[in-house]
Amino acid sequence: MTGARLGELRAGLADVEGRIARACASTGRHRGDVTLVVVTKTFPAGDVRLLAGLGVVDVGEARDQEASAKAAELADLGLRWHFVGRLQTNKASSVASYADVVHSVDRERLVGALSRGARRAGRTVDCLVQVGLDTALDADPESGPAARGGARPADVPALAAAVAAADGLRLAGVMAVAPRDGDPADAFARLADVGALMRVDHPAATVVSAGMSGDLEAAVAAGATHLRVGSAVLGSRPPLH
Ligand SMILES: *Cc1c(COP(=O)(O)O)cnc(C)c1O
Repeated sequence: MTGARLGELRAGLADVEGRIARACASTGRHRGDVTLVVVTKTFPAGDVRLLAGLGVVDVGEARDQEASAKAAELADLGLRWHFVGRLQTNKASSVASYADVVHSVDRERLVGALSRGARRAGRTVDCLVQVGLDTALDADPESGPAARGGARPADVPALAAAVAAADGLRLAGVMAVAPRDGDPADAFARLADVGALMRVDHPAATVVSAGMSGDLEAAVAAGATHLRVGSAVLGSRPPLH
């Protein structure tokens, strides 16, 4: 059982590594400048352990309950835990107790809760501002949060300043999920612009988290520093509810 799963994961990882290597080669980027975060949400802790044995260091999770249990069970592995999912305010303090990087800071209400959790745990948590790239958002400033999460680009500077000023948090950069409709290359180019603007005031905020199983090549081409890849490594997930 474990041997067969190990083979599947090894093959999935090799396939994704090949895609990243080709994308870097064709855009003149160094493989070492791109971090692969393997998104293990919905898959068992045993898969994460096998991935660690294959050299994976950065893992992504999307739900606090599942992530906190896995981080506790796998504490011996020295993994870097990335929280990439929609973050509820009442879970933020818990997430800050184990996550090394939170990719989904998209509103100011989260900042105080993350800061409290990080300080209580005596930790420093890297935070990315999640940017909503649905163009409809720009057209209608009164519209709610983006369908796939994220702050409106116009709201990013204030949110970045709040993160940068919070104890226990470090502003590390930007993140986005490409809108379902439209060209991911366009979306990732806009994310790169938002990131560049952020670095005018916050030069250390160098992370650009973009790209998933379906669009990682476009993300590498647009300058992403972090790719969040799940199904292309682990296989298809049961649908989330
Ligand atoms: C699940 C998830 C991913 C990984 O998606 P795949 O298509 O399986 O690669 C990346 N980013 C976020 C925010 C996710 O929730």
